[in-house]
Amino acid sequence: MNQREKLNSLQEIEMHKMVIVGGVAAGATAAARARRLSGDAEITVLEAGPDVSFANCGLPYYIGGDISSRSKLILQSPESFKDQYDVTVRTETEVVSIDKGGKTVTAVDKKTGDNVVFSYDSLILAQGGRPIVPPLPGVEKDHVFSLWTLEDMDAIHAHIRDDQPQSAVVVGGGFIGLEMVEALKKRGLNVTVVERLPQVMPNLEPEIAGYLTEELISFGVEVLTSRSVTEVTENSVMLDDGRELAADMVLMSVGVKPTLKLAQETGLAIGEAGGLLVDEYLQTSDPSIYAAGDMVEIEHRSNGRKVRIPLAGPANRQGRLAAGNAMGHKRSYTGSLGTSIVRVFEAVAGSTGLSLSRAREAGIPADAVVIHKEHHTSYYPGAEQVTVMVIYHRETGVVLGGQTAGYAGADRRLDVLATAAAAKMTVGDLAELDLAYSPPLGTANDAVNMAAFTAENRMTGYSPALTAGELDVWAGDRNPQIVDVRDTFARDLAHVAGSVHIPLTYLASRIGEMDSSKPVLVVGENGKKAHQALRQLIQNGFTEVMNASGGYISLQRHARAVGFANFNVGLADLEAKSLEDTSEDEVGDSTEAAAEVKNPLAGNAPIVIDVRTPEEFASGEYPGAINLPLDELDDRIPEFGDFGREITVYCASGARSAYAQRILMQVGYTNVTNGGGIMEMMYSK
Ligand SMILES: Cc1cc2nc3c(=O)[nH]c(=O)nc-3n(C[C@H](O)[C@H](O)[C@H](O)COP(=O)(O)OP(=O)(O)OC[C@H]3O[C@@H](n4cnc5c(N)ncnc54)[C@H](O)[C@@H]3O)c2cc1C
Repeated sequence: MNQREKLNSLQEIEMHKMVIVGGVAAGATAAARARRLSGDAEITVLEAGPDVSFANCGLPYYIGGDISSRSKLILQSPESFKDQYDVTVRTETEVVSIDKGGKTVTAVDKKTGDNVVFSYDSLILAQGGRPIVPPLPGVEKDHVFSLWTLEDMDAIHAHIRDDQPQSAVVVGGGFIGLEMVEALKKRGLNVTVVERLPQVMPNLEPEIAGYLTEELISFGVEVLTSRSVTEVTENSVMLDDGRELAADMVLMSVGVKPTLKLAQETGLAIGEAGGLLVDEYLQTSDPSIYAAGDMVEIEHRSNGRKVRIPLAGPANRQGRLAAGNAMGHKRSYTGSLGTSIVRVFEAVAGSTGLSLSRAREAGIPADAVVIHKEHHTSYYPGAEQVTVMVIYHRETGVVLGGQTAGYAGADRRLDVLATAAAAKMTVGDLAELDLAYSPPLGTANDAVNMAAFTAENRMTGYSPALTAGELDVWAGDRNPQIVDVRDTFARDLAHVAGSVHIPLTYLASRIGEMDSSKPVLVVGENGKKAHQALRQLIQNGFTEVMNASGGYISLQRHARAVGFANFNVGLADLEAKSLEDTSEDEVGDSTEAAAEVKNPLAGNAPIVIDVRTPEEFASGEYPGAINLPLDELDDRIPEFGDFGREITVYCASGARSAYAQRILMQVGYTNVTNGGGIMEMMYSK
């Protein structure tokens, strides 16, 4: 290009007239990007609604009270767009037709009813979608809502404030539905969620969804799956199983459909996934018309299939790219992994890329493993368990997707998996990743590394494992012997019916109780001890041994979400949780109670001392044991009585109790036994 041509093309860009239809996520981003690329382009945003660039993702949090000022949800106004970007925004202006040949759009000014015509060099459609409202009797009633816009939010807010509903039914267990369950609970309503599919959050594998189900149940939410609403009455909804649920308000949250009428009437091509067809440059079948956001279909980054991914991140990035391409800054869109995450009360779960079921449906030879690990070192206060599932190509090990769950740290692991899937890294690459670590912030082998090690072990056949869902099928075929290698406390809470309890420590001595020619399923708490047990069994000539990936935690969550056909997995009682903080009362009570209790060390009778921390002690103790953490032992020795007293000490593994034994013997106690770990103690009982 010579100097003159360059100047001409520059002038063309500077003369550019861009019209954007829709002014929220994709549209607003496109407008801002277009202005940054060209100082002189004429940029007009036409928005049918009363608001532009608002935070629709934040709507549930205003209803729930986490966000107290409504104005914080408004990110831009027509005035601020003009001031900051010199972009003309016309709200309440609905585009009703496009003249492709003449390059004009006609819009209706909703305030005056007038038709207004706008000409364009490039047009960007960013019309998004609308919530689906199923055509059920009663859905038109005033107490039935959807949530998509600020107006929807205001209507729900006003209904709760003015009509004071006591009960709500949320129809649809996707992420907006579940965020609204939390919001409505926070506003004091009794909430039931009704989901047509067998589990909430259908994008998640059942055991990850089951984690959210547990949280919902803990907070007193009724979760009804595999059921549909058939009718809405004045104060109830009817279900297809004949049940009637009290409902002073109903939220319909069953999905979103792309807004395509205008595109269809214009003759723009619609794609196989039901969204507006765009090429890699987000160009529609008309070269002057680009499109972005919830209305388009794009390529799934893991397998190249056409999909619709109605999420804010992709919408924003597509808007940015579409504006650049329309302005001549060509760049192709690489597709989306559909990475999404939701917080329900305190529980967080998310997914990226392909789920195991989606990958297999697409004909990909995919496998998955699950691990549960502390989100930071267990010895630093506040460690929470985080769950990581990695989905990978069985032969190449390429990461196809991942899912995570936890109270803390699930977001970070999900982002690592999203990056790995985008970069088409293998589980081997993941195993080698240097991830941030210091005791309050992680573990030396992060949960992602551990998941990768486990995946490698499954891939190579070194440690065969199946996910909870896969095990159901496998067990149906094999009728395996089921060995529960967990500790007594965990087993007492819940176990698989018909399983044999052999704690890992005793496996070697009791191996003869099993038939080495028959398949064995080993169940640990989280899969780790079961891996050790599995290796031991294989080394002892067992030919078919399978680990339950993610252990009993995963089995239980899967059972809670969708159940098993071939197992009877016992369910432990869930902790009842409340939105009110009762901790102050609890402290008061326990202090008073403590004052009344006499010193358990007093006297000279034989005693059993548990030298673990109070938290460990609370998870289960040897009957009659006295909790005296190792750190406090020195100070309490004067209370121990005669040197000949029979004292047994134990801890989690036998290591801290060995210290305790040495300390007591050094000061003169002669009859001190190290009982070892809690497992050995319980077993000896
Ligand atoms: C309650 C809620 C919570 C959400 N939470 C999350 C989340 O946590 N994470 C996440 O990734 N995503 C979330 N989303 C989804 C995310 O908000 C959408 O994916 C994103 O807003 C899509 O952007 P868009 O620009 O394509 O469409 P929209 O944001 O829907 O904007 C489209 C706009 O186009 C306008 N329009 C349509 N037709 C015309 C016309 N003919 N003329 C003029 N204007 C028109 C509409 O009025 C609308 O304002 C949430 C959505 C909701 C509703």
